Amino acid sequence: MNAQVKAKALKPLWRIENAAQAVFDPVPFKVYTQRDLERIPQLENLPAEQRFEMKVVASVLPFRVNQYVIDELIDWSNIPADPIFQLTFPQRGMLAPEHFERIATLLREGADKVELEQAVSEVRMELNPHPADQMEMNMPRDEDGARLDGIQHKYRETVLFFPSQGQTCHSYCTFCFRWAQFVGDKELRIASSEAGALHEHLRRNTDVTDVLFTGGDPMVMKTRHLRDYLEPLLQPEFDHVQTIRIGSKALTFWPHRFLGAEDADDLMQLLTQLVEAGKHVALMAHYNHWKELDTEAAQAAIRRVRSTGAVIRAQGPLLAHINDDPAVWAKMWKLQVKLGIVPYYMFAERDTGARAYFEVPLARAWEIYREAMQQVSGLARTARGPSMSASPGKVEIQGVAEIAGEKVFVLRFIQGRNPDWVQRPFFAKYDEQATWLHHLKPAFGEQKWFWEDEYETLRDDKLALAD
Ligand code: SF4
Repeated sequence: MNAQVKAKALKPLWRIENAAQAVFDPVPFKVYTQRDLERIPQLENLPAEQRFEMKVVASVLPFRVNQYVIDELIDWSNIPADPIFQLTFPQRGMLAPEHFERIATLLREGADKVELEQAVSEVRMELNPHPADQMEMNMPRDEDGARLDGIQHKYRETVLFFPSQGQTCHSYCTFCFRWAQFVGDKELRIASSEAGALHEHLRRNTDVTDVLFTGGDPMVMKTRHLRDYLEPLLQPEFDHVQTIRIGSKALTFWPHRFLGAEDADDLMQLLTQLVEAGKHVALMAHYNHWKELDTEAAQAAIRRVRSTGAVIRAQGPLLAHINDDPAVWAKMWKLQVKLGIVPYYMFAERDTGARAYFEVPLARAWEIYREAMQQVSGLARTARGPSMSASPGKVEIQGVAEIAGEKVFVLRFIQGRNPDWVQRPFFAKYDEQATWLHHLKPAFGEQKWFWEDEYETLRDDKLALAD
């Protein structure tokens, strides 16, 4: 092969893609927050009462939406039922009636800022801002016992890192379990700008094979900041870190991040560089509905990311008002496989924030999962679920069965605080209303879960350290 031919053969695929996609010029990023609700033209036709309700809810739960979502993802002839409208715009039912009334009254009466902020803060604290003991149980410490901000280390092989520049998203999901990150309360934030602390933690923990960059959405960061965190992982001392995962909803909320953004090429280069150095790079894409995959920009962005060699895996919760329908999941998984994305997880909605509005009973969740699975081919059956990210670990509902005359849920740990719990089936009494692990009781007259004593000991130890 002569040098010229060889150079051409080695040309990164994303460059070829780029030439084919000259149509995606830079698109300005225009965003609306709670203060701008009145400036969104599509809302002008809504009744004043409905706009006021949105304002009340957006005083408590974070609100942020961008022009791409408004123009390309929401069907404005179908609101309020449109799933992406429900996914991004506040709805009255997202607050409990007493919380709604409290804030609505203050707004109607023109309460002063301090009084309103106090009430909002009290309501937020009643919404379980940090589910699954994240603040107390997952924060590692350095050699001197000091807490390492911005890092969570719940499972032996995986470290979660929250880069401080990535603690926002291109839009916010109304159901977000990380909502507390976005409400400006420093006490509620988990973040770090300390690349050094992350690298030191990884250096000292050679059991770690996977790092997950999360937020917020790390893809809101400039590529040069991402590079500061990621490039050092190519040093031989980090050979044990085999997989770099980036949790993101940018393929949905702002696909132009991967297309015409000023540093999109540089991002493609960074991903290619990591892949070519032998890392497994996985974009953990958050999807809730097939509509998110159904725009030209979304599909071009997916092609471009895949052309770097990075893998896209799809995950997201099952949510009332958005996707509690097997046909929606089946269509989404089929489309993901068609676009080269690997379906990875169906989650149960976590017990935080607007949970009551979105939660689906576990029994129904399992039916939806099963009916959706029955409609897809083997390649789309890679999605696990429905799975609860609870404090002891990730617990999957494997099915409903009748054993020795008792109707039970069959459960298993997909991940556990103790690796020995993983893949051990266990059983809960069937409960048609239960929506989360703590609603379930052990089956067959057992008093405790097999993992309960060990978990309590682990928990006590961690909480003692947190004091
Ligand atoms: S993209 Fe993820 S972190 Fe951001 S608001 Fe949605 S669920 Fe939350």
